[in-house]
Amino acid sequence: MALFIYGTKAFTSFKGYYGQKEECEHCHRVYKKGYMKINRWVHIDYIPFFPIGGGYFKYCPICGNGVNLKSKEAKQEMNGVTDPEPQQLKVYAKHILANKPKGFLETDNSYELWVRDEITGEDILLLNQTTKDVVKNVKKNRGLKILPIVDVQ
Ligand SMILES: [Zn+2]
Repeated sequence: MALFIYGTKAFTSFKGYYGQKEECEHCHRVYKKGYMKINRWVHIDYIPFFPIGGGYFKYCPICGNGVNLKSKEAKQEMNGVTDPEPQQLKVYAKHILANKPKGFLETDNSYELWVRDEITGEDILLLNQTTKDVVKNVKKNRGLKILPIVDVQ
């Protein structure tokens, strides 16, 4: 008897910052919104098999709160007028107890999540006492290819 493992998987990719700077209703920071494309696939035995649609997620590039958009709406917004002022943000994590031996903590929640505004040099703390899994989720939920983790010595 063959047993197939069947499910869906979302692939995400960050597309850029678009539109005008707006104040975020959650964190009150004023930035252009980030746009992330979502592609959903059915997988069988973990091999992507066929696409079942997707869309976009438009989010505050600082706190990550946002809304889902249909591809058509998102493309309209992305083709609209964008504030030409450069916006460069880097999401990264710090691993505070990187030097502690494995097994020292049952769950290593010594990760911190930061966003650096590379234009102003400001470092913004998003989360502290969090885990590597949360850091990985943030990476996926923002469609980032890399989210560097800095070991704190
Ligand atoms: Zn925000």
